[in-house]
Amino acid sequence: MLYNEFQGEKLSALGFGAMRLPLGPDGTIDQAELDRMVDAAIAAGVNYFDTAYAYHGGKSENAIGASLRRYPRESWNLADKFPGHQNIKGVKPMVPEEVFEDQLQKCGVEYFDFYLLHNICENSLTHYYGQKIDECLAYFKEQKAKGRIRHLGFSCHATAPTLEKFLDVYGDQFEFCQIQLNYVDWKLQNAQKKVDLLRAHGIPVWVMEPVRGGKLAKFAPEIEEKMRALRPEESTPAWAFRWLRTVPRPTMILSGMSNLAQMEDNLKTFSEDKPLNEAELAVLDEAAASLARMIPCTACRYCCAGCPMGLDIPGLLSIANDLAVAKSFNVVSRYTIMDEDKKASACIGCGQCETVCPQKIHVPEEMQKLAALMETQKTWEEICAERAAIAEAAKKR
Ligand code: SF4
Ligand code: SF4
Repeated sequence: MLYNEFQGEKLSALGFGAMRLPLGPDGTIDQAELDRMVDAAIAAGVNYFDTAYAYHGGKSENAIGASLRRYPRESWNLADKFPGHQNIKGVKPMVPEEVFEDQLQKCGVEYFDFYLLHNICENSLTHYYGQKIDECLAYFKEQKAKGRIRHLGFSCHATAPTLEKFLDVYGDQFEFCQIQLNYVDWKLQNAQKKVDLLRAHGIPVWVMEPVRGGKLAKFAPEIEEKMRALRPEESTPAWAFRWLRTVPRPTMILSGMSNLAQMEDNLKTFSEDKPLNEAELAVLDEAAASLARMIPCTACRYCCAGCPMGLDIPGLLSIANDLAVAKSFNVVSRYTIMDEDKKASACIGCGQCETVCPQKIHVPEEMQKLAALMETQKTWEEICAERAAIAEAAKKR
């Protein structure tokens, strides 16, 4: 395992993000698979695990806490986050005292090694804690003084100018900052500037979305062929991690792994450094350009809880993205099989999703486009009848 130094501590360069944990057939977290993943991670030297109040509808903390507690407390670091970004107007604000005690209890720990204010951004800053971010911060600093938090940081989906303003006021209050960073967002979200700003303030960089919610795990065959020719032994996601270790070289890279195979692939990648050369970096430029036309949804699901129509927004956006690449029967049927009140056409354009989306996606607009595109598609019944006819014809041949 590769390690980085942080305030005299040795942190594994790879951290396990508990945002997309393995699921069983009933859609709940598969604890046995999670335990196998944690066993593999710890055996390979991973010592950093990251969860949040909202992940998996509030179940991530219990699951990762239970899995980690099978090992001595001092052998792992646990990070959790205060969900101030969920303090939406008209909803009872999250109270730090209540949330923090609940989190310790859910994780089954007496302290958090790392604790973050979750998702500081343009939309969350004003309502972070009933418009009193100072009080929120004071509470967590008090917990730090009591030894219930070892290191205080924040995660951030803000644009570079907002981050700059935030750092000018609060920069000296935090020990680390977690940002979305990968070879697409380096330019697309000006992550390069954010890294420069954080470093100018002496704040170490933590990375989330290194593979952009899986978007950097698969490319068009011609791009993947170039990757394989240059690095036959490495997977496509490994390229995203190699880029991070070659270019910005952050302190921590969090990966939200969902099964043991992904964990094993990442552990292999982080077992040694293999920096990318110029030719390899050029292939990644090409890969990034091929994604430029995609909707940059990372499936974080921040927008889902507040959608009055209960739409699976990332699911719908993923269909739109898949259609942009190729209009296959499978993709079309994923949409047509949906209940009418769950399709893009059910969107009422209220804009709630847009205000909370860290990627600043114009969701109502995308919903309209998808609805218009799908209007001309066949119904599920028509598709079934067509499939049955094809099967029947095949039988007769
Ligand atoms: S704009 Fe549409 S998708 Fe977004 S929250 Fe409102 S109804 Fe849901
Ligand atoms: S639309 Fe935005 S908020 Fe919703 S899942 Fe995608 S990235 Fe997250």
